[in-house]
Amino acid sequence: MELENKIIIVTGASSGIGAAAAKLFASEGANVVLGARRSTELEVLADAISRAGGRAMYLAGDVKDEGYAGALVDLATKAFGGLDGAFNNAGIVGEMQPVPDMSIGNWTDVISVNLTAAFLAAKAQVPAMKARGQGSIVFTASFVGFSNGGMPGMGAYAASKAGLIGFAQSLASDHAAEGIRVNALLPGGTITPSGGEGNPAALEFIAGLHPMKRMAAPAEIAQAAVFLLSDRSSFMTGSPMIVDGGISVRLA
Ligand code: NAP
Repeated sequence: MELENKIIIVTGASSGIGAAAAKLFASEGANVVLGARRSTELEVLADAISRAGGRAMYLAGDVKDEGYAGALVDLATKAFGGLDGAFNNAGIVGEMQPVPDMSIGNWTDVISVNLTAAFLAAKAQVPAMKARGQGSIVFTASFVGFSNGGMPGMGAYAASKAGLIGFAQSLASDHAAEGIRVNALLPGGTITPSGGEGNPAALEFIAGLHPMKRMAAPAEIAQAAVFLLSDRSSFMTGSPMIVDGGISVRLA
């Protein structure tokens, strides 16, 4: 068990990478607190985890809401006794448009969900981890925040994810001496609803950009998150961990 008795918040748990991660964390012994806006999906997942012998609580809300970030930490503390880890994974792609065609509304939405929400999450999570003298925070960034890899129309998304990597590194530097590790996970194309699932042409195009000529399954990304949240990565902080089928080296 890699995460035995650890108490971990997972956002974006109603779908894709977050749902796969929540299941895997629970099967590795973690107590998980599930977050996303869609309550029914969270309830179904929490039930499935419980039926498999795991421990899960959930709370629906919007990661753009500062009160929600705090409420997830409160739930972890009340239900399980504290907070050891957070997989801050909720995110949106938004409009895929060249910048001249992109709306300011899209820019603002993408930055709010992918970057500002990370700030709000950290503000709530760091004090709870400090109280326990240790913790591990993982932000889901993207290969696109590091090396575009040939993906078109990613101006807002790339800016949000590159910003997230810088934010994770700054947070890591500020809190390393307190025993809190902070890392960014940079997935390559992953088969999820926002990764093009249900659109065979998009999946084929994205798979073709990867040197491995395929996209990841959500569980492959979740395995890397387990590592970053576990004590196996005890000397890793401020790291942009790339798990991308080689797409970042394609144009490097
Ligand atoms: P997904 O299946 O569409 O899941 C996105 C999750 O984020 C959902 O659970 C969604 O839940 C949640 N979410 C979105 N906006 C939210 C908000 N305002 N408040 C609360 N929750 C919100 O996509 P995914 O591919 O698993 O994405 C997970 C993360 O991986 C994202 O950060 C994404 O940028 C990143 N990523 C994905 C890929 C890829 O190819 N799939 C590649 C690199 C990085 P609700 O709709 O229920 O709120």
